[in-house]
Amino acid sequence: MRHFDYSAAQDVKGALQKLASRPQESAPIGGGTNLVDLLKLNVQTPALLVDINGLPLSEVKEEAGGLSIGALVRNSDLADHPLVRERYPVLSEALLAGASPQLRNLATVGGNILQRTRCSYFRDTAQPCNKREPGSGCGALEGYNRMHAVLGGSDKCIASNPSDMNVALMVLDATVHLVGPKGERKVAFADFHLLPGSTPEKETVIQPGELITHVSLPASRFAAHSRYVKVRDRAAYAFALTSAAVALELDGKTVKDARVALGGVGTKPWRSREAEKALIGKPADEVRFKAAAAAALKGAKPRTHNAFKVELAQRTLVRALSLVTGIV
Ligand code: SF4
Repeated sequence: MRHFDYSAAQDVKGALQKLASRPQESAPIGGGTNLVDLLKLNVQTPALLVDINGLPLSEVKEEAGGLSIGALVRNSDLADHPLVRERYPVLSEALLAGASPQLRNLATVGGNILQRTRCSYFRDTAQPCNKREPGSGCGALEGYNRMHAVLGGSDKCIASNPSDMNVALMVLDATVHLVGPKGERKVAFADFHLLPGSTPEKETVIQPGELITHVSLPASRFAAHSRYVKVRDRAAYAFALTSAAVALELDGKTVKDARVALGGVGTKPWRSREAEKALIGKPADEVRFKAAAAAALKGAKPRTHNAFKVELAQRTLVRALSLVTGIV
């Protein structure tokens, strides 16, 4: 592990100044549940760590009928928050499906949004990886790619986004709020993560020196009919092979509105507008659920070891839709 300097910030302004003092070599640290791993593996090698745990970004509050969630809110606190459980159950379920209780107690919302891929080639500095070292190649394309994405990949990278929480935020139309040297800005969650294309090292729109301050959620019409379903190799402490977040507004037995997102299969948290289109205005039944699932995976490009994800993701989505509508 490379030696680094450590400096704790007490407020947002101080944190930005510290990050700006070495713009290409500094990194903020909150819970550190992902970053410390990557420091130990020499995958990330910042010269300066700016501890942001002293910043006043740990509040969950009602705002304009929705919620404002501070970037330093711990995953377990958010999952157990009464307003989240009541109004955004899909978010609570997704958080509780992630990692282990110990990790959830430490991991933050901001860190979870920025969570790096679990691609084993990315995490092994002896292997080629365009994301870690642009231009070095991709070990996964012709290597062991069972956990990799079948949607949104490129000939440079097929790494899947590992976060459960991100899948739920996709269906909740979240907004990410940032602050940086040029001031404050906000980005729709759907636009926050980038497809790998020819530059897989660029994973999000966040710029050097910027911090996530909070995430806002609009008032939800979907509380009564939203679920997160995750399929994994073990019952706990495992990343998703496939997952689905669904949120429906029903008018009797007809789907009035729908939000659908998939996890484990996309190079970014994967909102499926195709699946939503296949559901909206249609009866909530198994035939339509299967049609929506087929539409969601229509563009899938499986590799040698992950072809099973195409059918598994469809079944996961049908299962989530069935649970949310009581058609089981
Ligand atoms: Fe690196 Fe992406 Fe290839 Fe994994 S899939 S080795 S992260 S370039």
